[in-house]
Amino acid sequence: MFFPSLGLIATTNVITVDINENVQTALNRMHEHNHRSVIVVDGPQHYILTSKDIIRLRLEGIGFDTPLFKVHLRPLPLISRESNIVNALNLTNEQDEHICVCNEDGSLYGLVTNSDIISSVDPQIVLDSLQIGTLLDKKYGYKSFAPDTPVIKILEYLKDAPNDCVIIQKDGFPVGILTSKDVLRLIEKENLQTLPVETEMSSPVFTLGTRASINDGLEFLKKNHFKRIVVTDDSGAVVGVVNQQDLIARTYLKWSQLMRDHFKQFEELTQVLQQKNLHLSKLATKDALTDVHNRHMFTELFAKEVINLKRDGAKLVLMMIDLDFFKRINDTYGHNVGDETLRMFAGTVLTCIRESDIFARWGGEEFVLLLHGASGKEAYDIGEKIRKKIETTFFEQAGRLTCSIGAAEVFADDTIEKAVHRADNALYAAKERGRNTTVVYEG
Ligand code: GH3
Ligand code: MG
Ligand code: MG
Repeated sequence: MFFPSLGLIATTNVITVDINENVQTALNRMHEHNHRSVIVVDGPQHYILTSKDIIRLRLEGIGFDTPLFKVHLRPLPLISRESNIVNALNLTNEQDEHICVCNEDGSLYGLVTNSDIISSVDPQIVLDSLQIGTLLDKKYGYKSFAPDTPVIKILEYLKDAPNDCVIIQKDGFPVGILTSKDVLRLIEKENLQTLPVETEMSSPVFTLGTRASINDGLEFLKKNHFKRIVVTDDSGAVVGVVNQQDLIARTYLKWSQLMRDHFKQFEELTQVLQQKNLHLSKLATKDALTDVHNRHMFTELFAKEVINLKRDGAKLVLMMIDLDFFKRINDTYGHNVGDETLRMFAGTVLTCIRESDIFARWGGEEFVLLLHGASGKEAYDIGEKIRKKIETTFFEQAGRLTCSIGAAEVFADDTIEKAVHRADNALYAAKERGRNTTVVYEG
């Protein structure tokens, strides 16, 4: 229960398209079913195509008549629907957020996401999925009387009864209820010996089915201002009466049982979640493709450096480096080679700079570099060093490559936007001058 199998939490409402179909067919299917993603099936291997991918393809100018096997798609990890969520969590990371859940024969059963998995261990979900029926046992016996029973008999029973109510039943079904609260009203009546309970009971009886969740039960008590729940089976016959305290106490008991039963799994889960945390904190600072700082981290480090600048007045230069005609690399060799080239490019730049310099991916094929203690002239020299290094490097799959560089000095009253804007202007000038050039901003 606490660790449901994936079959229980997977979304089965998924649409698929064969890998031999084209992008347009996939898009049509998404429209038709109003889905934001479609699973691309290639035998046992499954990929996902999302609306974001469609936008990317569009922006990259890839025709929608392109067959899906020619398109860069994210492969999805595959896991059996019998597996539990701890195994599934081991398979996912930020990027591969979806996991395919498959039947025993390998066919697609559904999809799960990280958030489905995490929410399935939420204690709140346990309250939602634990049925009241599972809390009832024979201790929850209740006493029932016929409608014509004289009230006095019921009072006699309630005097020593373990519970504070009785159910009035006719033909096996509840028609009324009498509680100790009603007793206070009845106690002073003269004719208790003959007065049938039928005229004094509360009717009808509000009941909940055994399949109602604990949360439903708590809500039921709150809404009706009741102190107890009369629980009925599918046919409407009473199977027990649970009072409010019992419901809560029983829920705690069940919880602690579940905790104990699943202690080992909890430990495993804790371990997986700790690893995930580590991974996520890395994701928050690193660019996933090149492993250099990401834009977010760069922005933070930039702010710190500007504070230092105010304090010690040392020099600081911001450089923007953009690969020339990079789109051609993707168009000629495909996106994967493009990615690999970006990785190698970042690695090559790192060999040209000092450890104290801050290098980051700004986005796409654009990188930023923050240089300590450099003036405009020195920035030009360092830019040229990087530019020449790239020009003379042979990129394994893409061959020769060049980059353009724009540099701008950073001032103590700068914001990152202002500094980037100046470096960008210089970069634009470098592109204008025929690319493979370093330009320092001159105001
Ligand atoms: P320019 O010399 O004017 O800079 O030309 P360009 O082709 O480099 O510039 P443009 O901005 O037109 O194209 C940038 C290309 O970079 C387009 C985009 O597909 C590609 N790109 C951006 N991010 C990535 C990435 O993460 N991986 C790959 N493979 N390509 C990327
Ligand atoms: Mg470019
Ligand atoms: Mg660019």
